[in-house]
Amino acid sequence: MVEGIRERLGRVWERIEAAAARSGRPASAVTLVAVSKTMPAEAVRKAVAAGVRIFGENRVQEAREKIALVPGVAEWHLIGHLQTNKAKLAVALFSRIHSLDSIRLARELERHAEEAGKDLRCLVEVNLGGEAQKSGEAEEEVRTLLAEASRFSHLAIDGLMIVPPFLPDPEAVRPFFRRLRLLRDQLVREGFPLTELSMGMSHDFEAAIEEGATLVRIGTALFGTRG
Ligand SMILES: *Cc1c(COP(=O)(O)O)cnc(C)c1O
Repeated sequence: MVEGIRERLGRVWERIEAAAARSGRPASAVTLVAVSKTMPAEAVRKAVAAGVRIFGENRVQEAREKIALVPGVAEWHLIGHLQTNKAKLAVALFSRIHSLDSIRLARELERHAEEAGKDLRCLVEVNLGGEAQKSGEAEEEVRTLLAEASRFSHLAIDGLMIVPPFLPDPEAVRPFFRRLRLLRDQLVREGFPLTELSMGMSHDFEAAIEEGATLVRIGTALFGTRG
């Protein structure tokens, strides 16, 4: 029999549990975001039946179509870059944005969340690699964004997110995870209430959890290779 989502989910949770234990935390300290981008609604349905509650999508339009086909999913998270002209739709579709990467976007999200009478949880995406082609706020700008956004009443910015440069060896990625945690700890000392760290994907989530991840974004290890 072809291995299904149920078996894959079981093994991913075993690995999450073991990594959490190595960081002195219970597995319940880690939230699994199943990244369903490019996967059909049917795959999401099967994952729901297997017990998955939170799904991550990286494109607003694709998410809109899929969400309509799978009613009753607990939560949808946006994990990819969001254009300001799609902020209104994103507010309607998602309960959390992992990829808040500019003050302009924060202002648009706040405006639309207020209009919709919703509260939106957000993470600031940090670009620790300083790679110009990637989205995310550079370390210094994160502080400025947090300071302005702390006045917003409909955005709850409660953590940081990182998509490190792709390096096949998880040990090569670990320093990025550690730096994100240290930055979070520093910002907490400065008074920003940041509890969440969204970091770790299929090939490196164990290192991310060992370094303090509270949200892991896992696609391939659950759904198989994307076409
Ligand atoms: C696709 C994607 C993931 C999941 O990647 P996998 O390697 O399939 O686990 C996680 N985070 C972001 C931002 C992504 O775009």
